[in-house]
Amino acid sequence: MQAAPVRATVGGVSPGESAGNEFLVRFWGVRGSIATPGPATARYGGNTSSLEVRCGARLLLLDAGTGLRYLGAKLLAEAPLDADLFFTHTHFDHVCGLPFFKPFFQAQNRFRLWAGHLGGGLTLQRVLREFMMAPLFPVPPEVFKAAIEYRDFKSGDTLTPGSGIAVRSAPLNHPDGATGYRIEYRGKSLCYVTDTEHVPGTPDRNVLGLIQDADVVIYDCMYTDDEYAKSYVGWGHSTWQEAVRLCKPARVKKLVVFHHDPDHDDDKMDAIGREVAAAMPGAVVAHEGMELKL
Ligand SMILES: [Zn+2]
Ligand SMILES: [Zn+2]
Repeated sequence: MQAAPVRATVGGVSPGESAGNEFLVRFWGVRGSIATPGPATARYGGNTSSLEVRCGARLLLLDAGTGLRYLGAKLLAEAPLDADLFFTHTHFDHVCGLPFFKPFFQAQNRFRLWAGHLGGGLTLQRVLREFMMAPLFPVPPEVFKAAIEYRDFKSGDTLTPGSGIAVRSAPLNHPDGATGYRIEYRGKSLCYVTDTEHVPGTPDRNVLGLIQDADVVIYDCMYTDDEYAKSYVGWGHSTWQEAVRLCKPARVKKLVVFHHDPDHDDDKMDAIGREVAAAMPGAVVAHEGMELKL
């Protein structure tokens, strides 16, 4: 099924948020594969992928990892909400926060859930229903009270979740597929490129096309080049060094290291932060609570 047509409605103006033209991203979960609570990961955070993006009055969510639960608690005060949630893909670490997202239990809210990586007759609705199914999970998606629309599209499509916002997409190299996004608003661009594996020596043309001249690129930096070559070829993830190799020629202004390996503790992330900033000035390691304005 192709993407639904343009929505021009601007809804869900949030009393606690600026309804101006602000473009920003907040990080609620930055960890890859599995949540890692505990003192060794407390500074960067142990929650899995979840981002909040504000394009003026519009709210966009990226992925639904365990970080989404904390974002949901904050959003309760902003009901009624009208928002779009874009999935890179439906691996467990990117969907497991969904049943714990409290705004789904408020009847006055509206959400559109988007995914572009599925094929072969699979739909996002079916995948989420099977994930919320006994005996793996006690209740089905019917427990949600908010109005939820499921929108399947094809990676590569451009989506328009609100007036003045374009969301470009591209297929990524990941087991079962994944979708990278580029959100364009008021002449600025934010790219979200996780989970994806590179082929050493061959820059990914889909990724390069998506990130060209972007202001911010959030990239799957799960491993270092050494770790990747030694143990993780074929696991579906990339390295901070590959991020630099892609972002520099694409003239990206700011690289954000994301989807941290569960085995990388805070000290390791500090070290990666120093190395990546030396290789590409302005690059940062994502941590929970981080906010970037574009
Ligand atoms: Zn992941
Ligand atoms: Zn994945």
